[in-house]
Amino acid sequence: MATTPPIDPYITKPKVYLVGRQLVADEEVARFLEDEGLAFTTDAGAAAEVLTEIAGRTCYMSFGKGRKSNREYMENILSSKHGSVLEHAVWCLLITGVSRALTHELVRHRAGFGYSQLSQRYVDESEARYVVPPLYQENPELRQKWQQTIEWIRKTYAELAEVTTQYVQQKHPEMAPRDRRKWARQAARSILPNATETKIFVTGNSRAWRHFLELRGSPHADTEIRLLAIEVCRVFKKEAPNIFQDIELVDEPDGMPSVRVVHSKV
Ligand SMILES: Cc1cc2nc3c(=O)[nH]c(=O)nc-3n(C[C@H](O)[C@H](O)[C@H](O)COP(=O)(O)OP(=O)(O)OC[C@H]3O[C@@H](n4cnc5c(N)ncnc54)[C@H](O)[C@@H]3O)c2cc1C
Repeated sequence: MATTPPIDPYITKPKVYLVGRQLVADEEVARFLEDEGLAFTTDAGAAAEVLTEIAGRTCYMSFGKGRKSNREYMENILSSKHGSVLEHAVWCLLITGVSRALTHELVRHRAGFGYSQLSQRYVDESEARYVVPPLYQENPELRQKWQQTIEWIRKTYAELAEVTTQYVQQKHPEMAPRDRRKWARQAARSILPNATETKIFVTGNSRAWRHFLELRGSPHADTEIRLLAIEVCRVFKKEAPNIFQDIELVDEPDGMPSVRVVHSKV
């Protein structure tokens, strides 16, 4: 019988899943255009770009007038910094293979984002995986030292969670087993390191994502979150090339790409 290979507890790069995108309700757009006596077509590929263009054109009732392509339309939105229009384009990303250190930085991005993150109180972290900081990925000696420490923490966490569960059981026999485990885990998690892998579901609008890419794709950002920003940038360049038309990945002297933005903080 085939056996599944053991999961490597060490992770070296983030994974980004684009799990949610918008849909245009064509019949309702048609009803609006008919009611207003307007004609409008767009060459936008992504629903998010169609909706953003409709939102922007509503401001001046410029349907069927002015700029011909969605790319041209978006260029004008970006260069004139009419950024609130970009809030109508929304995507959901499910991000895995990132550390708690990274998500602590990610959730500092408040405007235009919603988050749902794996709970260390509900989920048993005895089998948690750990994200190897990029600097330790390139140096075997440092990596070994780092890994020894992680192994010790891993083992100690499992032991601590077990004895803490027993203690809570003695102290609170009236508690439901699920609550006892939660109490034990919420105490034991205090020794888990920043490198512990987490999973986070992030919903954000394009104005917010652009700001995230600009700040976190920079050479000044932490390397792990910069790698995430690079990946997110690739996803969005493919998904909505017009909204992200002025954003490029460029190779930097430090050996990694960075995210360059022409229209900063739209
Ligand atoms: C390289 C780097 C180093 C950093 N170092 C540190 C550090 O040492 N310590 C630390 O604490 N943080 C640090 N940060 C985090 C940083 O201070 C921000 O919290 C984070 O980048 C989110 O930026 P933001 O507030 O612009 O984003 P968001 O919260 O997404 O806000 C986007 C924009 O909306 C507007 N906005 C949002 N909320 C408000 C508000 N309440 N009032 C008015 N305007 C608002 C602002 O224009 C803001 O730029 C660092 C960030 C980077 C990129």
